[in-house]
Amino acid sequence: MGKESLFRAVKGMNDLLPAEAARWQRLERSFAETARLHGYGEVRTPLVERTELFVRSIGETTDVVSKEMYTFDRHDESLTLRPEGTASAARAYLEHAVHGREPVTRWYYVGPMFRAERAQRGRYRQFHQAGCEIYGDRGPGCDAEIIDMLRTFFGELGISALDVRVSSLGGREARTAYRDRLVAFLEPRASELSELSRQRLVSNPLRILDSKDPGDQALLSGAPSIHDVLTEDDRAHFDGLRRYLDALGTPYVVDGGMVRGLDYYTRTVFEIRSDAGELGAQNTLVGGGRYDGMIESLGGPPTPAIGFALGLERLLLAMPSAGPEAHGTCFFAPLGDRATEVALGLARDLRKHGVRAEVDSRGGSLKSLLRRANGLAARLCVVIGDAEVERGVAQVKDLNEHTQDEVALDRAVVILADRLLGSAITAPGGVA
Ligand code: AMP
Repeated sequence: MGKESLFRAVKGMNDLLPAEAARWQRLERSFAETARLHGYGEVRTPLVERTELFVRSIGETTDVVSKEMYTFDRHDESLTLRPEGTASAARAYLEHAVHGREPVTRWYYVGPMFRAERAQRGRYRQFHQAGCEIYGDRGPGCDAEIIDMLRTFFGELGISALDVRVSSLGGREARTAYRDRLVAFLEPRASELSELSRQRLVSNPLRILDSKDPGDQALLSGAPSIHDVLTEDDRAHFDGLRRYLDALGTPYVVDGGMVRGLDYYTRTVFEIRSDAGELGAQNTLVGGGRYDGMIESLGGPPTPAIGFALGLERLLLAMPSAGPEAHGTCFFAPLGDRATEVALGLARDLRKHGVRAEVDSRGGSLKSLLRRANGLAARLCVVIGDAEVERGVAQVKDLNEHTQDEVALDRAVVILADRLLGSAITAPGGVA
């Protein structure tokens, strides 16, 4: 390690260097493909929105809004780095009057989010979410489809030990009734609650269910369940969700104590957790649910909606480490100027076949060039010296097989591409 650098990244915000970024790219590609196959189109919104948008949609008394937002003033406006994606997507949906153009809209997004939380493994201040939103479908068919899509996606990524939890928070009516019941249950026991939960008893009683305090949890085990106060319609919706999940063969457990941290949820809520890989305590991979009231509360027409957000950092911690890249690198070790000319041309033509090729034209010794090829974990190393150029050949070392042979320069591109891609190559520009 060199001298300690003067500058360090902001706490809880991480650099991604190329080796790691390659895993990210693969994950983002497979998420985008999964979303595409389910009919979602990508939406990209700004990283910054008016603060009021988050206050209104996420809720003033949530942890995210009251404690964790990166907010600043510019030109007499209060702006905030987005702490999540749903509010921005809903804003864009309304701003572009998408509801007037199509009855059902399916969007997905991927990108960085910002929350000033206590940084730890799996919890960062700049983190990345991938999410989907469906507007215009009351469910519960699409609710079940989303949960099943996520479970299948995680399975394809090799993440095991999945724990799918579903619940219903009911609509506005049930939530108000439940809030009253919960307060009536907890008020006489307020002195036994933790200080934070005592505050929440006034500001946002439902959040008490989220308390990590063991004393609170013990007290809550006797509390009424939200499922006791669901209206008939809420109950029919929740029963429908469970029926569809059963039909799809998606395992889940009903968890009546799940409230999720954001205020906008109505009816279906769900989380998927896992104990796989290096996740540790922050083991919720994805959270989501319905927010049937949000679009209207932002000034739009009544529009049912559902969405989820998954944490990319957490998925990567849960995923088994990736195998080697499908195709290896072709490394060129030219010894001299003329050889470099030849190598640059061969590498360019090889790349047209989709082969990753790297020319080391620094002019080192054969030994140092081979060391570099091994350091890159290249599959083939093409050595060309003046004598080879004279004879119109190159020496090809297979660094996996530890073999070497001589290849004619005018056939080299086809032969090298064939070896690396494992299929017959006919002409430059096309793989047969
Ligand atoms: P939320 O938007 O809070 O419902 O979170 C949805 C998902 O985003 C979580 O299940 C995590 O996977 C991820 N997530 C939320 N907050 C963080 C954070 N601070 N750091 C890393 N991932 C996070």
